Amino acid sequence: MKTKTTIDINKLVRKNILTMKPYSSARDEFKGDAEIFLDANENPYPSPFNRYPDPLQWEVKKKLSKIKGIQPEQIFLGNGSDEAIDVLIRAFCEPNREAILITEPTYGMYAVCADVNAVAIQKILLTPEYDLDVDALFNQVNDQTKIIFLCSPNNPTANLLNRDKIISVLERFNGLVVIDEAYIDFTSSESFTHDLPAFENLVILQTFSKAWGLAGLRLGMCFASPAIIAILNKVKYPYNINLATQAHALEALDNEQKKNSMVTEIVRERDFMMRELQTVKMVQKVYPSDANFILIKVDDANGTYKKLTDQKIIVRNRSSVALCLNCLRITVGTPEENKELIKALKELSK
Ligand SMILES: *Cc1c(COP(=O)(O)O)cnc(C)c1O
Repeated sequence: MKTKTTIDINKLVRKNILTMKPYSSARDEFKGDAEIFLDANENPYPSPFNRYPDPLQWEVKKKLSKIKGIQPEQIFLGNGSDEAIDVLIRAFCEPNREAILITEPTYGMYAVCADVNAVAIQKILLTPEYDLDVDALFNQVNDQTKIIFLCSPNNPTANLLNRDKIISVLERFNGLVVIDEAYIDFTSSESFTHDLPAFENLVILQTFSKAWGLAGLRLGMCFASPAIIAILNKVKYPYNINLATQAHALEALDNEQKKNSMVTEIVRERDFMMRELQTVKMVQKVYPSDANFILIKVDDANGTYKKLTDQKIIVRNRSSVALCLNCLRITVGTPEENKELIKALKELSK
């Protein structure tokens, strides 16, 4: 096994991005301490929001750095991890010429961001067990392929992809491999952040939207080499993370324990729901879960979805998605919500 991939990021990035001069904000040009700030055309009258925020969010990154064991220079923060997906595609894929590769079924935003940017989408299917098919993947990869998106634990299937298979993709592919770990807190498996020193082409996405309980805040994390992060910073909007978000994130990061106890509770409820769902007559299969949701196969997903909505219970109907015929995706809720759902499914099975 190779222990280190060497990749010239300057050859991967789009030429125009490599050569362009980024916007330089007032806060980029003067960083030190001062008393009178007349450089940014802000309103001088104090309010919580009269000043622009730190464009590179160093305070938040320093706190994250300690929690994640990653240097601040290896962190990009986005308006949700969705912004990181978009900026990665815009920085590295030439419109109308290059491609990303996705493994279906998976999270929808990779394809949406590629479409918006006129970047082609190469698709392979996961195996029937929802694992990575490395041979199929490399059959699709060609000179156009710039980014491979792997989601682990995967949405909507809830399982982790096989770690050795991911490693072999990292070793063999000469473009970026993005591992979306939105659900990593809900599994006992290790994050790929530990593998950053070994793979220069590795990019990891995480988010405050799931385990941290802050979906409304819109804050996503991207971890990669300093060279890749510098490119993402060059492309992003100057003040992409607002002051309120940065302040709230700092507060949340001071209380990691709160996140951990919510995760413990959600995982306990998940295991309860998995057991209960097995006993419901209409449920043909309960797929294993390393996430905060469960994929089930039922007799009639469309009918069940409709009848649940009539009872004001909304789950995600994934029946039209590749390899997910008659599948529903159920988010783990509060104990009361989960009991209501199980009760409704049992009633509908009668
Ligand atoms: C929920 C989710 C995200 C989170 O996106 P944000 O923009 O950070 O809210 C990212 N990836 C996957 C696979 C998800 O399911």
